[in-house]
Amino acid sequence: MKSSLQVHLITHTPEPEKVIAGAAKLCYSPKDIQGTMEQSDQKKNQEFVKMLVNMGHESPLEHISFTFGIEGVSRSLTHQLVRHRIGASYSQKSQRYVEEKGFKYIIPPAVEENSRALSLYEKSMEESAAAYNEITKLLYSDHIESLMNQGKTEKMAKKEAKKKAIEDARFVLPNACETKIIVTMNARALLHFFNHRCCNRAQWEIQELAIEMLRKVKRIAPTVFDIAGPKCLEKPCPEGSMTCGQVLEVRERFRNLQEERVIEKK
Ligand SMILES: Cc1cc2nc3c(=O)[nH]c(=O)nc-3n(C[C@H](O)[C@H](O)[C@H](O)COP(=O)(O)OP(=O)(O)OC[C@H]3O[C@@H](n4cnc5c(N)ncnc54)[C@H](O)[C@@H]3O)c2cc1C
Repeated sequence: MKSSLQVHLITHTPEPEKVIAGAAKLCYSPKDIQGTMEQSDQKKNQEFVKMLVNMGHESPLEHISFTFGIEGVSRSLTHQLVRHRIGASYSQKSQRYVEEKGFKYIIPPAVEENSRALSLYEKSMEESAAAYNEITKLLYSDHIESLMNQGKTEKMAKKEAKKKAIEDARFVLPNACETKIIVTMNARALLHFFNHRCCNRAQWEIQELAIEMLRKVKRIAPTVFDIAGPKCLEKPCPEGSMTCGQVLEVRERFRNLQEERVIEKK
């Protein structure tokens, strides 16, 4: 069964711009912490944060974080996502503990648009599911027998046999298999992630995810993420001969994202 992207912003640091501005000002202030935190109003905090972001003074941005619940994505996507190691934490649904009977899967748009490719794709998913179910069954009976012979109770043996069976049967599951992951990233890590994954060179699926995450954080901390997105928004594309060659279109798309927030606010 087909599945598609859902991104939930579960939680985030309250008053993010105040926290960043307070942390940055503390470095240069003779006041105590409470005095420093309460020093400025929201407008001044936002101006200060904007200045820090524009100057690239990013370490105070590490004090605020955002937690996302992401579902309807493929295992290929999460393999790419978890490569972002710094300032990021992950918890992902386990294929060792959770059976993937009748798993959902992601269909790339190009596959969906080609009826022959789509039919091969769906057939391949059905075959993987059938092989997975059959291998699970076979391994389950092997393990249950051996575990009972080792003197385990029937209840324990069943539980252990199931886990042992599905953790090996999962090797036949496709990259397309739907997964769920909870991700927490600090704002500095998010800016880096958006630089790389909002770029047209990133694959369509993680690009869609990154843009949706950016849309959500812009609503919460607009000044932090004011110029967030692919690197070409502010400078010439750094990808050299690998450039997508669509800098103007990309800038327009991200300007529209900015305007969405302004329209929402009205
Ligand atoms: C378009 C695209 C194509 C890609 N293709 C491939 C591919 O073919 N194969 C592949 O393996 N990966 C590929 N990647 C993944 C890429 O190489 C990175 O692993 C991924 O983007 C995470 O980036 P990062 O390491 O900068 O992030 P993080 O791990 O979050 O690191 C953030 C920053 O911290 C610093 N840092 C982190 N770790 C270290 C360290 N050990 N030593 C010194 N500094 C460190 C660096 O400045 C780094 O940029 C691709 C990524 C993109 C966007």
